[in-house]
Amino acid sequence: MGHSLPQSTRPEPAKERAVLVIVAHPDDETLGAGGTIARLSVQNCPVHCLSLTNGTGARNCEPLAGKDRLAAFNDASSLLGVRSTATLEYEDQRLDHYPFLDLVQAVECWAAKFEPIAVLTHSSSDLNLDHRIVCEVVATAFRPYKFSCLSLIASFEINSTTELGTLIGRSFRPTMFVDIQESLPLKLKAMQRYESEIGSFPHPRSSDALVAAARHRGITMASQAAEAFEVLFLAGRKAEALEALFAR
Ligand SMILES: [Zn+2]
Repeated sequence: MGHSLPQSTRPEPAKERAVLVIVAHPDDETLGAGGTIARLSVQNCPVHCLSLTNGTGARNCEPLAGKDRLAAFNDASSLLGVRSTATLEYEDQRLDHYPFLDLVQAVECWAAKFEPIAVLTHSSSDLNLDHRIVCEVVATAFRPYKFSCLSLIASFEINSTTELGTLIGRSFRPTMFVDIQESLPLKLKAMQRYESEIGSFPHPRSSDALVAAARHRGITMASQAAEAFEVLFLAGRKAEALEALFAR
């Protein structure tokens, strides 16, 4: 007959090694890293997405709008192969109204069930204040000594706000490129789930604009299409799972 260990000495269940995608608003995950997420998912690398808001609040008074945006978040994420989604329900475009430490602790609490090998998030060069705050929250929450498996923290760009960072003297400077030639159609399909967020070309979140952006980034790495990232943190350890990102 087995003996059960006292509660305090019982080993913790193994946490899942995963790539975490942390965004301010549902749709940012698809715009910024949809092709990369789809590529990781195809390689059986688990991806989990967290949005700090439900994407409504400051701009939209209709009570159903939040539900629609969350349904789109789940649909788009499912198309991309995301294993789980979560939202923290902070108000859209008002992340600066909450204590910074509260945001950090909420993200830490969600992340505690994973063993992240990589975290993808917003850029500090973005015009959108929610996006910049999320970047700082992630940098604070994922201090490397707290996550010994963490190999990479990288920022993506959001068509419609990151390119406008130049208006406040900031510029997105990508140094990492992921080939999304094969997963671009899935990214476009996932973005179609966010009907209220897309427009006709030259709207920056239109399909044609997203294709143009992917082609533009692809040129940099001599590929048909790519997503670009700023590397915030890179540790050369236990990064085998990330090889899927760079295989050509
Ligand atoms: Zn956003």
